Amino acid sequence: MSKIIGIDLGTTFSAIAELDDLGNPEMLSDPENNNRITRSAVYIGRDKAIVGDKAVDAAVTNRNSTVFEVKSQMENNVVWSKKDGEWIEQDAKKTSKGYTPSQISSIILSKLKDYTSGVKKAVVTVPAMFADAARDATLDAAKLAKLDVELINEPTAAVLHYANLPGSSINGRVLIFDLGGGTFDITIANVKGKKVDVITSVGDKHLGGRRFDEEIINLIDKKYKKAKGKGLVKPLEDESLFTIAERIKKILSTKDKASEIIEGPKGPQKIDISRSEFENSIDTYIEKIKMLMEEALESKDLKANNISQTLLVGGSTRMPIINKVITKIMKKAPVKGVNVDEAVACGAAIYAGLQNKGNLNSAQKKSLSNVELNDVCNYYLGTLAIIYDKERDMGIQINDIVIPRDTKLPCSITKTYTVVSDGQKGIDCSVTQSEGEEKDKEFVNILSNEILDLSKNAKAGDPIEVTYSYDNSGKIHCIFEDKKSKKKHEISLKPAGAKDLKELKENLDFDIE
Ligand code: AMP
Repeated sequence: MSKIIGIDLGTTFSAIAELDDLGNPEMLSDPENNNRITRSAVYIGRDKAIVGDKAVDAAVTNRNSTVFEVKSQMENNVVWSKKDGEWIEQDAKKTSKGYTPSQISSIILSKLKDYTSGVKKAVVTVPAMFADAARDATLDAAKLAKLDVELINEPTAAVLHYANLPGSSINGRVLIFDLGGGTFDITIANVKGKKVDVITSVGDKHLGGRRFDEEIINLIDKKYKKAKGKGLVKPLEDESLFTIAERIKKILSTKDKASEIIEGPKGPQKIDISRSEFENSIDTYIEKIKMLMEEALESKDLKANNISQTLLVGGSTRMPIINKVITKIMKKAPVKGVNVDEAVACGAAIYAGLQNKGNLNSAQKKSLSNVELNDVCNYYLGTLAIIYDKERDMGIQINDIVIPRDTKLPCSITKTYTVVSDGQKGIDCSVTQSEGEEKDKEFVNILSNEILDLSKNAKAGDPIEVTYSYDNSGKIHCIFEDKKSKKKHEISLKPAGAKDLKELKENLDFDIE
């Protein structure tokens, strides 16, 4: 019987959970060191790749061969160049040499799936605001790791876990506050028993613990310079400084002051950092967090007192300032009691059970019998269309929404547009994405702008059917159809020059440690 697996593929840490025989999620640990969370760091050697703490150690002497935070690159068409020790753009001819984010993520997935045996299928989590290209790259990573995968949004997985805890008191409209190593998501959901209905999500794909570590490094650098008259050399490129900064940050979660001896160009220096100094240094991020919390509530016309509980997810929620901010805005302290590093993987394992009901034993079936989950899409999807502007007496191009944000998943919506003029040669098949309901094309992200050729005898008013769908993994599918000629055009949202699966397999023959 195939195993029921959930994987949290995180920016700084990853984790894997399995549904046990009774239908409860159970964390799997690295057999080598018994750790339940694994650093998402990858060292790429000649014929072996190393994942986890050992990769972090390898970075000290082999910085160019060690990749951190691959998740923050998933939406980009880039490769990690070992020669340059950085991400470089992949050109349309695919000549840049290196490893794609999907290849590197596949190495992490391969490592995690070996914490047990016989894993073929899994649910992998992604940030709620992950772009389509990033979801696509995550699915490619899974295929490279020989995993059949469905995706679920991280805060959604976490609320599923909270709702399924034995004796759970989570009920009503809840806010899930998910602040990890590299991303921040806020999700609002209705919970009734084990039934979870997500209402909306907002977030920032680049806000998380690693940004806070950078601010601590900046503080260290300033203090070192003040004491020694000379600053550190390229401190933000020094991985051992990140390790020290993270340690300081964690100490400041429980103590008012942290001290470390810092080695620099002018010798060692003891550096003290206080909690208030640290909190001041991350002030702009804290303001952004407050703004997004307010935005999430306002987008659904909610006030703090309409939310029964705030649930915490992600390691960075251990910082005392986060507790203060939440208590101030929500007028109530957040719920404590789950392991914030493990909630996402556990929820993903529960979702994997829901998606594989045919594979469950009777106890698992019973345990999941009342569990239900509905998620929503997090972007508006539209296309560019010409409408007649009465005031200006001319046609103008606007962004017309096809799928509104917060539509329940999976979904498929068809809209009919028309050919504008007789003899028109083609139709602009632009696919647009936006967080707000935008009409102006300057404010939308154009995911694709292909052209559908029309037949020679196209006439004004001929119908063009546009069908957009979101699947269960939040992946977008778009088809433009000329109803007259029955010609269909399926849009590829992959960037020009993105490698296909066959090419991705080519330089990926590693023993994984
Ligand atoms: P996650 O992506 O949920 O695994 O969260 C990882 C992030 O949480 C990293 O940036 C960690 O440094 C951070 N983190 C973990 N524990 C603490 C702590 N006690 N205080 C502050 N940050 C923490």
